[in-house]
Amino acid sequence: MSLDSVLTRIDQNMPDAVERLFDLMRIKSISTDPAFDKDVEAAADWLVQELQSIGIAAEKRLTSGHPMVVGHVDGPADDVPHILFYGHYDVQPVDPLELWDRDPFDPALEDTAAGKVIRGRGSSDDKGQLMTFVEACRAWKAEHGALPCKITFLFEGEEESGSPSLVPFLQENAEELSCDIALICDTGLFQSKVPAITTMLRGLLAEDFTITGPSRDLHSGMYGGIAMNPIRILSKILAGLHDDTGAVTVPGFYDGVEELPEDIRAQWQGLNFDHASYLGDVGLKAPAGEQDRTPLEQIWARPTCDVNGVWGGYTGDGFKTVLPSQASAKLSFRLVGQQDPDKIRTAFRSYLESALPEGFTVEYRTEKGSSASQMSITDPAFEKARLALSDEWPDPAAYVGCGGSIPIAGFFKDMLNMDSMLIGFGCDDDQIHSPNEKYDMNSFHKGTRSWARILDALTR
Ligand SMILES: [Zn+2]
Repeated sequence: MSLDSVLTRIDQNMPDAVERLFDLMRIKSISTDPAFDKDVEAAADWLVQELQSIGIAAEKRLTSGHPMVVGHVDGPADDVPHILFYGHYDVQPVDPLELWDRDPFDPALEDTAAGKVIRGRGSSDDKGQLMTFVEACRAWKAEHGALPCKITFLFEGEEESGSPSLVPFLQENAEELSCDIALICDTGLFQSKVPAITTMLRGLLAEDFTITGPSRDLHSGMYGGIAMNPIRILSKILAGLHDDTGAVTVPGFYDGVEELPEDIRAQWQGLNFDHASYLGDVGLKAPAGEQDRTPLEQIWARPTCDVNGVWGGYTGDGFKTVLPSQASAKLSFRLVGQQDPDKIRTAFRSYLESALPEGFTVEYRTEKGSSASQMSITDPAFEKARLALSDEWPDPAAYVGCGGSIPIAGFFKDMLNMDSMLIGFGCDDDQIHSPNEKYDMNSFHKGTRSWARILDALTR
């Protein structure tokens, strides 16, 4: 089978592909606002039709929230992987509307100094990215009459509003949706340039607590000096969380943290991450993580502890010489490797409680933590996809980490026992979730070509 003919067809199809994307972008599928429920459903219907038009058995599947779109296409059995492709068709709200240079739901191609861009809500996140895969399939089907492998399509309509129906849907349809590997297109090029497969996502653990000392707020003229102030205790606890080298001091915190494999370390070095401008953009100079780690490691491969909020006492206008009864804080930990959120919670709590004076109590408001996701890149599919991406783009593709959490990849792993390749073509300046969202025409075009190359590589 010839890949070249598919790529040529993608090139020729581009004007029509852009028109089709515009059709989808005109649908105001804002999932968080019930006023747009009908529009969200219309976007699902549009996608069902679109998939059907290229011979894919697709349907809208109702949930207790917005519908899922599920499609299946058969391929040659046995020796080629069964792929699941995931994207989402809902978008973020558009306010503040006055900051848009054009109607967010009236998409257009614009010429900019950096090249042509597709402007409008959802262009990058995630309608444009989702359509790169659909367009690659369309061209493949047109050239070869059939797709090269079994593919299951899963399009979600609630990603921008917390995915409330996703977990139950995956549970109820686990057998139908379990494939050999998932392709998730909702990420970006590294520094807007280098094609990347995200293989490490940090987990998250949050802790929210109040410590109580005196049974009521006290006057510092009467009790100052003799009474222990909970804010003094809290400050000491928080200040002690990191040592002078930036390492977290909670005993056992680094259990389960793994060293980077040498080949990944080399790839990351090759990315020439410009941490000075990354920090400079937000008015900072020096990396604050563990000082014996590179800046990229600090963001992608090392765990963190951050104080997200702290309060207590009197914070209004003027002064009140109060010695408060309580002090509170919110903390979060980003987790990596095999770190166990439950063990870290326990370790943090004993660190905290051992610092409390006699008579002090602490109350926790608990949320469930999530562990990190790590893809097993020993699966040959990863290297095939990486080389295929490298063939399309000027820079060789890299395996990268992601400092945040992308829950869908964890759900696929935990519920469907399926690894995910997170591949996307967004740029840092796409302004997703903000006014004037755009997607580079280059991303749309080369992204579509990339999927054709990946399909070819995975099925050869
Ligand atoms: Zn998205």
